[in-house]
Amino acid sequence: MNEVSTTGPKSLYEKRQPVYPQKIDGHFRRLKWAIMAVTLAIYYVTPWLRWDRGPYAPDQAVLIDLASRRFYFGPIEIWPHEFYYVAGLLIMAGIGLFLVTSAVGRAWCGYACPQTVWTDVFQHIERAVEGDRNAQVRLAAAPWSVEKIGKRSLKYSLFLLVSLATGGAWIFYFADAPTLLRQFIAGEASLVAYSTVAILMATTFVFGGFMREQVCIYMCPWPRIQTAMMDEKSLLVTYKDWRGEPRGKGRRTGELSDLGLGDCIDCNQCVAVCPTGIDIRNGPQIGCITCALCIDACDRVMEKTGRPRGLIDYATLEDCAVEKSGGPPKPLLKSILRPRTIAYALIWSSVGLGMLFALGNRTRLDISAQQQRNPVYVQLSDGGVRNSYTIKLRNMQTRPREMRVDLTNLPGASMWRDGQTRDQASRSIQVVVPPDALAKLPMFVVAPGSGDASEKFGFTVRSTDGEGEMDSTEAIFERPRK
Ligand code: SF4
Ligand code: SF4
Repeated sequence: MNEVSTTGPKSLYEKRQPVYPQKIDGHFRRLKWAIMAVTLAIYYVTPWLRWDRGPYAPDQAVLIDLASRRFYFGPIEIWPHEFYYVAGLLIMAGIGLFLVTSAVGRAWCGYACPQTVWTDVFQHIERAVEGDRNAQVRLAAAPWSVEKIGKRSLKYSLFLLVSLATGGAWIFYFADAPTLLRQFIAGEASLVAYSTVAILMATTFVFGGFMREQVCIYMCPWPRIQTAMMDEKSLLVTYKDWRGEPRGKGRRTGELSDLGLGDCIDCNQCVAVCPTGIDIRNGPQIGCITCALCIDACDRVMEKTGRPRGLIDYATLEDCAVEKSGGPPKPLLKSILRPRTIAYALIWSSVGLGMLFALGNRTRLDISAQQQRNPVYVQLSDGGVRNSYTIKLRNMQTRPREMRVDLTNLPGASMWRDGQTRDQASRSIQVVVPPDALAKLPMFVVAPGSGDASEKFGFTVRSTDGEGEMDSTEAIFERPRK
């Protein structure tokens, strides 16, 4: 009989049930170890890698230099006006996530998402300090004692250390890492650096130490977006109920048909190892991050009971329907290589190749001209007309570069720089632009008074260092209207 509540309405919010995932070993657990090691190494080690760019540029391999508005990535240096490369990288990241989701479901969530990786780290610390699942459950239920206080203090101290390292590593991407570390320890770093570390430390500690699966289930939008992108051909971690049911405890000593039971012995191992605490036998659910640890757990059980592995397995809904009706299981590769994933892979590679091509062919200098309009022109006593411009020369290389600026078109015209005299005017000037800099040159251009009131002409810049790079820009020469 259903119980009738006599104490008023139930709370809208269910209290979180703590999850104590059990240690497990297997193919997917080892894959998770490998991906965790690679992703954490990339995150913590990258700011310490050096890249020699000569004496005029920082030697940190990956550096987001907000003060100078530069992004250094190995040999690539991105200027603010080249932000479209960063946009291209973000587009590639987006398409990459579509590709991964369509090929292998929520593999990003299960293996590489920072929330998953750091939660995994924290769960391993928890196991190392408090013991495996059963010991953790016993400790949680036990009254406070010296042992419990000691273990909890040690666990939270280690959590805080990992959180500090995580928040700390982030700021090293934005300044020279060794220098910033020294300043940070000496209390000489900026307030922004300390605040950033404090915020990231707090979020790592709370999200990885306490909220864990709640971040995935309630806070992260990605599971919802992924659900919209998945179809019956997407790979999911699936419990093959047509094989497992009816489940029942006990040893499978005879023919299963004699026992009237399926392969599932209801041992609950798949639930015990699940980092989000769900029961995959209830079908696909948003709490499943497809980490596949339940596959490892169930495969061990199947081996022990002498049944074929794969009662829980990666499979598509379409393949499940085929298998259920007695058809053969489809090879994993066929589920991954299908038109949709191939289309995503082609788009992703095209964007990548396009960016590589653009990067390989970009010039490392450019020119722009801005006309000074106060006054627009000056009528000279010899009948000539003078206009003023600010020429901007950008040297995107990490060494000084000599450049030659030429006038193109505008017959009879010559130019000279502010600070020179008209006697020094000519149709071309030589300039040395400092490394990694934008030089602004106020410039006078004089041309014969006869001609159109507005005449198009150009400035061209060439490097004289043997690389022969060039760029040009258009400008307007103004004369009095007749
Ligand atoms: S681990 Fe396998 S056998 Fe055990 S309860 Fe889960 S599905 Fe059933
Ligand atoms: S149900 Fe299995 S695949 Fe899904 S989160 Fe739990 S252990 Fe990972």
